[in-house]
Amino acid sequence: NHRIRLNSRPVGEPKAENYLLDEVDLGSPQDGEVLLRTLYLSLDPYMRGRMSDAKSYAKPVEVGDVMVGATVSEVVESNSSDFSTGDTVLGYGGWQEYSIEKAAHLRRLDPEVAPVSTALGVLGMPGFTAYSGLLEIGRPQEGETVAVAAATGPVGSVVGQIAKIKGAKAVGIAGGPEKVAHLNELGFDVALDHRTGNLKNELKESVPQGIDVYFENVGGDVFKAVLPRLNTYARVPVCGLVANYNLTELPEGPDRSGALMGNILTRSLNVRGFIQNEFVEKHHENFLSDMSGWVKEGKVRYREDIRPGLDKTPEYFNDLLAGRNFGKMVVAVDAE
Ligand code: NDP
Repeated sequence: NHRIRLNSRPVGEPKAENYLLDEVDLGSPQDGEVLLRTLYLSLDPYMRGRMSDAKSYAKPVEVGDVMVGATVSEVVESNSSDFSTGDTVLGYGGWQEYSIEKAAHLRRLDPEVAPVSTALGVLGMPGFTAYSGLLEIGRPQEGETVAVAAATGPVGSVVGQIAKIKGAKAVGIAGGPEKVAHLNELGFDVALDHRTGNLKNELKESVPQGIDVYFENVGGDVFKAVLPRLNTYARVPVCGLVANYNLTELPEGPDRSGALMGNILTRSLNVRGFIQNEFVEKHHENFLSDMSGWVKEGKVRYREDIRPGLDKTPEYFNDLLAGRNFGKMVVAVDAE
């Protein structure tokens, strides 16, 4: 079993030396366990946080441990009556070719319903994050304007498309002309490139009505451009701050926290952070039925960036954090 372990904690962008590629014999599954062969490994921005030992909502990966991650796998050997050899399951096998997992932690996937890789994207955790954060905190009303960045990614693209389903206008922000063109194809009403350096003015011109819901995926310069456009009573679900994940220090310049709090106060903004697990109990069942329906009807479309080879995973992960992915980043683990 080839696997990738954390060798040391990265400072800034992770480098090859922060990982250790090695091989181990996993042995056989015990009672209630199954042996799985990884088909697809999900790469997600949160993994950068797990590499660090800064205090966070989840425990860090320990140095020496296999990097964590959601996986779609095939059952190779089962010691549980719930699964048989050949079943396809969603699990949490991490960055490796095989894993042994408890049957109770797995969910069977039906390849007839949708390509199984979607269990890591539009029909999985990222899709659920978009669904629950937007509907629970963003609460878009008909005719309102919803803005989102990282808008071609698995979270952002779903936020924009659900906004449209709910009768709101969708404003998507992404990096580069190709991604902007894709947002137009997905039906976003306005699509803007944050790399032009002129986002603030472009938002003012193309979104004169202002923004009622800003689904925050990135932070940084995009947030600075969006903040002046937020309407009174705007809702800001704070989902992620990917622009910051590789930062090693705070940017120089004056402390702007006072101005930010001033904006929150005078425009009665509702800024609310969340981690998707919070909403699983309340929304997950509805998510699965709504989203599989929307995907089947073509109301929600998705794009995947499936790349071959476990050994290149560290490179793919850096591509994800830097925006060099185009759609949900997935590793086809044993492909060449
Ligand atoms: P994506 O596939 O969208 O990948 C991240 C994207 O972020 C990049 O493709 C890039 O898109 C954009 N980006 C990176 N750096 C910057 C920057 N400096 N300024 C603007 N954009 C940048 O990722 P996901 O859809 O999986 O995740 C989106 C966000 O949601 C992340 O912040 C993630 O941490 C968060 N998240 C939070 C969860 C929660 O429970 N709270 C659960 C799941 C995800 P582009 O090239 O278009 O700029």
